[in-house]
Amino acid sequence: MLPDPLPTLQRVFGFPDFRGVQRQVVERVLGGQRTLAVMPTGAGKSLTYQLPAVMLHGTCVVVSPLIALMHDQLRAAEAVGIRAATLTSVDANQAETRSRLRGGELDLLYVAPERASGQSFRELLSQADLALFAIDEAHCVSEWGHDFRPDYRLLKPLMDSFPDVSRLALTATADAHTRADILAQLGIPADGLIVSGFDRPNIRYHVTPKTSTPRQVADIIRRTPGPGIVYVQSRAGTEKMAASLASTGRPVRAYHAGLDPAIRAKNQADFVASEDMVICATVAFGMGIDKPDVRFVVHAGLPKSIEAYYQETGRAGRDGDPSVAHLFWGAEDFVRARQRIDEVEPERRAGEAARLQSLSALVETGGCRRQVLLRHFGEDAPADCGNCDNCLGASGAVDATELARKFLSAVFRTGQMFGVTYIEQVLTGKSTERSLMNGHENLSVWDIVDAEEAALLKPVGRALLLRDALRANEHGGLEFGPGARALLKGEATLSVVPQPRRERRARGAAAA
Ligand code: ADP
Ligand code: ZN
Repeated sequence: MLPDPLPTLQRVFGFPDFRGVQRQVVERVLGGQRTLAVMPTGAGKSLTYQLPAVMLHGTCVVVSPLIALMHDQLRAAEAVGIRAATLTSVDANQAETRSRLRGGELDLLYVAPERASGQSFRELLSQADLALFAIDEAHCVSEWGHDFRPDYRLLKPLMDSFPDVSRLALTATADAHTRADILAQLGIPADGLIVSGFDRPNIRYHVTPKTSTPRQVADIIRRTPGPGIVYVQSRAGTEKMAASLASTGRPVRAYHAGLDPAIRAKNQADFVASEDMVICATVAFGMGIDKPDVRFVVHAGLPKSIEAYYQETGRAGRDGDPSVAHLFWGAEDFVRARQRIDEVEPERRAGEAARLQSLSALVETGGCRRQVLLRHFGEDAPADCGNCDNCLGASGAVDATELARKFLSAVFRTGQMFGVTYIEQVLTGKSTERSLMNGHENLSVWDIVDAEEAALLKPVGRALLLRDALRANEHGGLEFGPGARALLKGEATLSVVPQPRRERRARGAAAA
């Protein structure tokens, strides 16, 4: 019989009960079963090794990639009376820590993967009494993950030399493929996988094409009270965005790694204390920040992956109150992301392409956004969450598969060399000198789109670029990409969101 962990949870940590899958994970660990726990940020992963570390005889070795977070965790563990230490290059007390480990005086020992994989560390561990290996941020072991660290590959040989010591791997971010890889790379059986609920029901997801990003972001800020984060891709971009949002009348600050450290710390502290501040930041902002009442998170451009998007939007509404996540994207974001994939090492390309594909599914769907997110994390989800733009009908997505085929036909029949505007003119039968000269008015695709459908042509063009059904050459001319085939063969559908009227009017005015 295993001891019941609940009394220790209450006595040492002061929590009345376990949350989510914590008990399940803790019981496996106490029973010596190797486990991979996939739990979202904030779900309480640390507890799943800290509690066994207190209960089990011997030391729990925690491998963690971020020295700064390690020291935060050390302080938190010591605060509840756990005997813990870190062994990193910045620690002055390394000799003392080694002797505490040998003397059986440590419940927890935090180390970085570079150190854990070294020979001298293995020798040190062989002189100690070990209870558990806990591998934090375990996705770093996989090339499929978004944060591969080669040193993680050396952890399995280390752990294999202590075959009786149990293993617990932890991560917040892993799709099915990455998970399978983590299990293999760390020697954990497939039935050792435990996945906890990823749904954040109080966050409402919105995904919108970019028209004028600063204006779109300002609109959201004007109608959303409370503190919020606007993620911008570049350092310079955060400052520009902050300047342009000043017109909203809200206190606005920028945050990025290039700022003077004193200013950065002040901006962060002021944001944490504020009830209405907007912070324009690079994605570095938010790690380790505990602010439960963030009411909105805006992405002013495409995030790196679905995992990154989930993690970044997850900083909204930790208090459980209604919050919103807005993502603005442009077809050019995808074009740039594809170019970047071509530049990474060949062995990482497939993983990067799959990541981008998942992201485009989230952006493109006319169905429930939450369903796409949760499915990505391997969870079943209802077809309709009632709390995203598509479920609320806010986006008004419509099926445009037939129109997409007409669009592709027009691109094909005109020789795969003309831009979006010309294709629109052909499909709507607008004679120009050029169309006359090219003899395109005799084509079967001439004037086959009526005025109502015409309003959907721009979004369809965008969606086709996004799906890699069309590619733009350096002159803006459109040609077929690998995604065209499925649409033409009727194996794929496409839905789009009609352009907001304001955008149409603005474009019309510009053309006049
Ligand atoms: P993660 O590493 O999964 O992001 P943490 O381990 O940092 O999450 O825990 C997040 C917060 O939840 C911490 O403040 C922690 O003290 C708290 N917490 C963990 N387990 C419980 C529990 N069973 N009941 C209440 N609070 C908990
Ligand atoms: Zn939904």
